[in-house]
Formats: sequence, structure tokens, C-alpha cells
Amino acid sequence: MAYYSPSIEKLVESFEKLPSIGHKTAQRLAFYMLDLSNEEVKEFVDSIINAKKNLKFCSKCFNISDTEPCNICGNPKRDSSTICVVEDVRDVVAMERTHEYNGVYHVLHGSISPMNGIGPDDIKIKELLSRLMDGSVKEIILATNPRVEGEATSMYISKLVKPLGIKVTRIARGIPIGGDLEYTDEVTLTKALEGRSEI
Ligand SMILES: [Zn+2]
Repeated sequence: MAYYSPSIEKLVESFEKLPSIGHKTAQRLAFYMLDLSNEEVKEFVDSIINAKKNLKFCSKCFNISDTEPCNICGNPKRDSSTICVVEDVRDVVAMERTHEYNGVYHVLHGSISPMNGIGPDDIKIKELLSRLMDGSVKEIILATNPRVEGEATSMYISKLVKPLGIKVTRIARGIPIGGDLEYTDEVTLTKALEGRSEI
């Protein structure tokens, strides 16, 4: 790495810290950036700074949003009596890609994992329960990932929600065990949603 000037080295290192970027790709990106005009570089950097600055979580569903509430919670055409519970904001994107779901969401921001010291209080379960208190919610669709942690989280939520008289369903097993909603194709995810069953 001593072939480059320290400032280029630093730039390559920064790209290398990004997920799934290896050393070669980092070099390519660094040199690509250096070829851009000052204006183009500024636009790129500003887009990151602005996204970071405007980053907010919807106070209802905890999805990432530029607005409060988010454009899903704030859309009167969405059915707010059905809440799809997911682990991650990326899972909302995956569900939205199916164009089959018209309810709203609740993003837990994680899953219960005693192994990693993550308990129910460390994710947005309390916040979910408080959304159920006004009696307007008819169904909770548990769409946590089909892993040990996702299943445990679903069971935990189900035990708390069922006594409230709310229908609790779990998306079907079309998703490979150990898989991620995020990487599941739209057809499989749509089928998993349609084939959900009461638990
Ligand atoms: Zn929202």
C-alpha cells in the first residue's frame, strides 16, 4: 500500500470499511472518485450527509423515514388494523416490493437473542404493545426471520398479544430456514404472506 500517497491510502481504507467491499474494489472506487469533478464529489458527499442528518425513525412503526409519521403510517389508504412485525427496516422494503401487503408495519430493530444478551426490552416490543391498546388493531402478522432468534421473538410476542383478543399469524415457511426476508424473492415472500397461519 505504500505505493500511494497517504491521502489516497486513507480514501481506499475508508471504502474498504464498507460492507462487501474488498481491497480491489476499494481501490477502484477510490480512483473513480478522484476522476469525478469537484461538483460531483460534493453532490455525492452531501447526499450521504443529508441522508444521515434527515434520518429519523417513525414514532409509530420505527421505520426509517424523512417524515413524521412515515409515509406508510401517514397513508390513509393503508389498513392500520393490520400490523406486520419485522426485525429490520430492510424487511419493510422487502415486504413492500411484493406490492401485496396493504397494512402497516412495526419494526422491532432486532430479535430476542439471549446468547447475544438481547432481551425483550432491548427491541421495540413495548412500543408494539402500546399500539394495540386502543383496540383498533385486528391482526398482527409476525414476519420475523425464520431463525432461532426470529422464532423465539415471534413466540414471545404471540404470548403477549393473544390474550388481548387480537388475531396473531405467522408468515408461512416458504422462506428457507435460516434465511433472511431481505434476500427472499417477491414471489416467495408473497406466498409466505398469503399462506400465513394463526398461531
Ligand atoms: Zn411509520
